[in-house]
Amino acid sequence: MTGFTTSEISRIMCEPEYRASRGSLGRKPSGDDRRQAAITMEKAMPNVEEVADKIYRLETPIPGMSTIFAVYLIQESEGVLIEPGPATALPQIREGMNTLGMKELAYIIPTHIHVDHAGGTGALAQLFPQATVLVHPAGVKHVVDPSRLIESTKMAFGPDFEDRLGPIIPVPESQIEVPEDGEIISINGRELQIIYAPGHAPHHMVIFDRSVEGIFCGEALGLPGQGDKLFPLPGVAPPSFDQELYLETMELLRQLGPRMLFYSHGGVGREPDTLISMAAESTRVFGDIILKALKEGEPPEAISRRIGEYATSSYGLKLDDMDLAMIVGGYALYFNKKGLA
Ligand SMILES: [Zn+2]
Repeated sequence: MTGFTTSEISRIMCEPEYRASRGSLGRKPSGDDRRQAAITMEKAMPNVEEVADKIYRLETPIPGMSTIFAVYLIQESEGVLIEPGPATALPQIREGMNTLGMKELAYIIPTHIHVDHAGGTGALAQLFPQATVLVHPAGVKHVVDPSRLIESTKMAFGPDFEDRLGPIIPVPESQIEVPEDGEIISINGRELQIIYAPGHAPHHMVIFDRSVEGIFCGEALGLPGQGDKLFPLPGVAPPSFDQELYLETMELLRQLGPRMLFYSHGGVGREPDTLISMAAESTRVFGDIILKALKEGEPPEAISRRIGEYATSSYGLKLDDMDLAMIVGGYALYFNKKGLA
């Protein structure tokens, strides 16, 4: 059983007061703003909200997936975009940038190259040719030539993924920079530190915004549930999920002492230490259950059922078949590679 109660879990995400007091754009509306807002409203106001100083969150659905996705825009100098999302998010990103009056981007930073986080990077880079795209060294060759990435995306999301998520097009090599682990990008005095964060995937990195002490954590710190179901579950994707590295990364990021977690598949976590403990707990427990079942020769469907039941009874979460297949498949491959199952 989990060591956290449901009310404890609900308390620690997304303080509503912050939004209420700051408004969706974070300052008192002027006459100009109201006119601007009226114009924007006609075009269906995109869901852009300030979640921390000059940091805006834009939510976009991921067609065919139960989870939501968040793109983050930092309104500093020419602008920074973290997590492009799939190519289908592009119109919403442009609308969001219009709403904020952002015309350019200095940096485009996907946390890792999976299609739901970075499928639209090439298209976005084309739209902002002066922007620098930061990519983990293990991901570079796959964004320059996405042929293998497209193949693996077809395996994970089906051969028709482009119909739902849009195409993955190459990112021009001339726009790419590969940051070192710990490297700091300074924008207008705002320091964004890139930290390699393997475990979910070898090409995963996070961005630590030192001015607000917040981490754009991608899937490195688990996947929080939605609504009041907030217990973060391990972000598992075959074939390269590594439980040991995943847990090590969590502790490394905890040591940074973040005050906020900007989730890609969720909102903003305001009690990082507790949330990281929860994510580590579910990662260990799922691993234990799956390893035991594998050793006993249980078939994958039965293990999936077991995990689904555990998630519901202990965390109040309902996982769909695809989530379960990813979790069980990812762990099974990992234990296999380790020679444990
Ligand atoms: Zn991923």
